[in-house]
Amino acid sequence: MAEWNEKPYRADQIFTWVYHQKTVDFDAMTNLSKSLRQHLKDYFHMGFPRIAQKTVSADGTIKYLFQLEDGENIEAVWIPDNRRKTLCISTQVGCRLGCSFCLTATLGLKRNLTPSEILGQYMAVNRDLPETEQVTNVVVMGMGEPLDNYDSLVAALRLMVSPEGLRISNRRITLSTSGLVDKIKKFQAENIMVNLAVSLNATEDATRSKIMPIDKKYPIAVLLDCLRDYPLKRKRRLTFEYVLLRGTNDSHEDAVRLARLLKGIPCKVNLIPFNRFEGADYEAPSEEALLDFQNYLISKNYTVFIRKPRGADILGACGQLAAQSLPQAIPQ
Ligand code: SAH
Ligand code: SF4
Repeated sequence: MAEWNEKPYRADQIFTWVYHQKTVDFDAMTNLSKSLRQHLKDYFHMGFPRIAQKTVSADGTIKYLFQLEDGENIEAVWIPDNRRKTLCISTQVGCRLGCSFCLTATLGLKRNLTPSEILGQYMAVNRDLPETEQVTNVVVMGMGEPLDNYDSLVAALRLMVSPEGLRISNRRITLSTSGLVDKIKKFQAENIMVNLAVSLNATEDATRSKIMPIDKKYPIAVLLDCLRDYPLKRKRRLTFEYVLLRGTNDSHEDAVRLARLLKGIPCKVNLIPFNRFEGADYEAPSEEALLDFQNYLISKNYTVFIRKPRGADILGACGQLAAQSLPQAIPQ
């Protein structure tokens, strides 16, 4: 606005239209002059990622396939759980970190999403759903490694939490990372106090580096040291995610080591039984191993949840996103 010799408060007015009134039409911004509205139309356009396909799971989960302006596809997953409606959003088309149990990894990294594409998933889904089903919680756990698309992620998160933006409470947003230590440290300084989840997935570097190549750069001890110093607001805890792969990281000894590793870190643990996809070399753990793992950690006073495979029948669960289903051309 300053560049255009407009008063600074015009920017606030535009923000209000876009993020509070959710208007997508510059002409509707009636408190701006006609010439400013025209100027905006000449330079910008507003829109959302196009919903190319919607797949509904037997458990009510909805997978959205979006087509972006350059034709690339990404997915977001809406997960209802009583009053809570969680949206899992993507930050990249594909991912370059190559975890061996993750379908997104097989795509490689095609490109980063822009802040508008990250935010656009949230806005598009809310526009698509009725008032009673609006998203209450956001997890940045879809396609891609969020901290590998750092600048766009931070810009999108700021727009989500700021009072001028979408005004989502930072308590209702969770960022999941595979453990990019340098970026976690940098993120601390941004002072965006969203929840942090870390995908640990193994208790020894020999195993972790095999299933998560990033472990070679940031081994477990380095990652956990960084997390011990991570500033947490009062009553907040880190989340550790642990994908259980049968015969690889699901033994009783693993549970014992995990309890030892996490000692002293205010945290809770999410156990995620491996979700299958075609061509995967892994199996989910047996029910017995899963419960033994959980019970041992509980006996050591950890808070431990088993993540239900929501939307697994539509390849909508953790690690199953690859935007594979080819979109039909739906005119919009
Ligand atoms: N890149 C980030 C966020 C996306 S992956 C990260 O790795 O944390 C989100 C979660 O899904 C991670 O905890 C990851 O370990 C888990 N995951 C990946 N593939 C999976 C699979 N096939 N089954 C179960 N969980 C999986
Ligand atoms: Fe990327 Fe996360 Fe999948 Fe690893 S688990 S390949 S970091 S999306």
